Amino acid sequence: MVVTLDPVTRQLYLDHAATTPVRRAALDAYVGAAALTGNAASSHTAGRAARRALEDARESIAAALGCAADEVVFTSGGTEADNIAVAGLFRSRHRADPRRRRVLISAVEHPAVQAAAVALESEGAVVVPLSVGTDGVLDAAAVGAAVLEGGGPATVALIGCMWANNEVGAVQPVGWLAGRAAEYGIPLHVDAVQAVGTLEVDAAASGAATVAVSGHKVGGPIGCGVLVVRRGTGVAPVMHGGGQEAGLRPGTVAVPLVVATAAALTEAVAARPLAAARLAGLHDALVAGIRAGVPDVMLSGPTDGSRRLPTIAHLTFTGCDSESLLVLLDRAGVAASTGSACRSGVLEPSPVLAAMGMPLQRALGAVRFSLGHTTTKADISRVVDVMPGVVATARRARAAAVRDAA
Ligand code: PLP
Repeated sequence: MVVTLDPVTRQLYLDHAATTPVRRAALDAYVGAAALTGNAASSHTAGRAARRALEDARESIAAALGCAADEVVFTSGGTEADNIAVAGLFRSRHRADPRRRRVLISAVEHPAVQAAAVALESEGAVVVPLSVGTDGVLDAAAVGAAVLEGGGPATVALIGCMWANNEVGAVQPVGWLAGRAAEYGIPLHVDAVQAVGTLEVDAAASGAATVAVSGHKVGGPIGCGVLVVRRGTGVAPVMHGGGQEAGLRPGTVAVPLVVATAAALTEAVAARPLAAARLAGLHDALVAGIRAGVPDVMLSGPTDGSRRLPTIAHLTFTGCDSESLLVLLDRAGVAASTGSACRSGVLEPSPVLAAMGMPLQRALGAVRFSLGHTTTKADISRVVDVMPGVVATARRARAAAVRDAA
């Protein structure tokens, strides 16, 4: 089997959690729909043709995500879906009852949720982080305590918790959390951006009020996402315009992007059980292979494979800087990342690793390899082969920098 090289960069791509190659079915669907001229809001024949394509895509997405078609709101991506949900749920609930000001979010949320919540502080929100264990999994006891303190459940506007974490792959107890939230009558927003296509995501069964999904993480084009808003959920509009997408995401809907996203999502969800098993095997081979060739490597996140995404291998290398590891990997033809929006040159651990209580020196030597639908066994072997040299060079560079600083 040959190594899968990106056709443009000629690199081996192991950053699928950032974005994954577009699926053929999505490209074909995009090209077909891009030939449609009409605005899906127009009533003439051309408009109705675009509308039909849009509504067919909505039906397919609803089937893939386990919800009704009228619960699907198209957005520009995961970030916009998260923002609409967090701000929209808060405003709806806070306006109805000003005592509801607390926004409880897991301490490992993506900035699309975390920063959206913090931005609401100017409107009176109080953001309460829900702590996680050293494995990145939500601390159940902390949830109960956070709901009950600070005025109790009547003061909570919403709870936000991701389905699975984008950095270390920790899978959160979403069903359990939805049950607790329902007991208190609090809506739960779930960011399922990294979970869809790898875990079974059934929006209705999850018990969440809103669920965010991003098309480009499952092989759709960049620029399209979905917010599932369960019927009966109050979400105040955060954008204003022509009333499209139930008034929650106004603006002319990008039908070609939506149609391509539906094709990608349908394929990814249908392939999911086999793909997840295949990727779990590759994940374990990657981790075992690197450990066999490199001393002092630690796997982050849950040790139990069923509580971790098979697509993410977050490793820390003692005595290395993430940045040099990534540069050396890039030179060796491998695209990986740290998994967090870290600022180059700044000695700061990612907020997710800090929330997990990871010691600073360990967190600063982190690399996230993320696997996806194009990853092969040969790709894994290639990375396993290059890692001993990459890590040895990074360790020498760090040791020299420490000596120079002394
Ligand atoms: N939420 C999570 C968990 C993510 O991993 C990402 C992207 O990395 C997003 C939200 C944002 O999605 P998008 O890039 O579609 O805006």
